[in-house]
Amino acid sequence: AEQHRREISRKSIEKYQIGKKLGEGAFSVVYQAINLTTNEKVAIKVIKKYQLDEKQRNSVLKEVNIMKQLNHPNIVKLIEFIENDNYYYIVQEVVSGGEIFNEIVKYTYFSEDLSRHVIIQVAEALLYMHEYVGIVHRDLKPENIFFKPVKFFKDDPKNRFNKLRKSDNPNTKLDEGKFIMNYGGGGIGLIKVGDFGLSKQILLNDENNSLKTPCGTIGYTAPEIVRDMKYSKEVDMWALGCVLYILLCGFPPFFNDSIDELTRSVARGEFKFLSPWWDEISPGAKNCVSKLLTVNPLQRYTVKQFLQDPWILEFLNKSENIQ
Ligand code: ADP
Ligand code: MG
Repeated sequence: AEQHRREISRKSIEKYQIGKKLGEGAFSVVYQAINLTTNEKVAIKVIKKYQLDEKQRNSVLKEVNIMKQLNHPNIVKLIEFIENDNYYYIVQEVVSGGEIFNEIVKYTYFSEDLSRHVIIQVAEALLYMHEYVGIVHRDLKPENIFFKPVKFFKDDPKNRFNKLRKSDNPNTKLDEGKFIMNYGGGGIGLIKVGDFGLSKQILLNDENNSLKTPCGTIGYTAPEIVRDMKYSKEVDMWALGCVLYILLCGFPPFFNDSIDELTRSVARGEFKFLSPWWDEISPGAKNCVSKLLTVNPLQRYTVKQFLQDPWILEFLNKSENIQ
């Protein structure tokens, strides 16, 4: 315990200069900060200890322990964990673009190519978590998916996002954001999955692997969770389906002001490709969403199957050609 205490005091928060607020959760505030000795920019999730009971404190330590195990380009990296009498500080690499959520709000929806560019990187993170480490995220949603911005020039062949839908008249600048996105004024580069606050360790290659605690964000939870059944990594694939649906059309597959109604439609997997929003989206994209939003977890796409989906492969082949 003494050595532990010494270690804590050696790791001091003083070397960081706290900057602007990046985001906020129920028990945390996330700030941008700069390491004054290395000039490195970081993001620090600050959690007040006194608000938390024993169980919640433990779950902060679990979140950190899970992040410690993860080392992947599409996952937010832990830099260090600092603790003093009053606070926990989870120091992470900063992902400068912030949440994908805000980009969807700004641009209404993404082109099929941009949606694939985003969702493939989220799937790469899940492939690593599910198949190599044994972690279920359990809270995958656009608020927990971050990005680094990139700039493209208008005619850059690497700008894979300059496809318009038939209905997008380039002369109507109805939606400023969409115009820029479609014509390559700026864009979304590297994607990183963050927020491991609800994540859970599972055993690799264990067929009987299962979790029981109902959790997640309403609207993204899989049918097996709302039905209070045992579940495992398939719940992340359901959430991936919800995220892909939202990227393509701008609204979630399951929403209802009544929680009871919402729960019922999730349990039955009742969602629609609503007209007119889905009219011009390709059958391949719809098929891919349907394979993820499959009620039976045994029939739902695994992450490996998702990465072999024809609509996904079509994009991977296309982007290989332009590099
Ligand atoms: P909570 O568990 O409270 O939801 P998150 O880890 O999701 O906490 O952080 C809350 C918000 O802070 C995120 O949704 C995002 O806007 C911002 N944020 C968190 N980590 C980073 C990061 N590494 N880089 C940039 N923004 C971040
Ligand atoms: Mg979050």
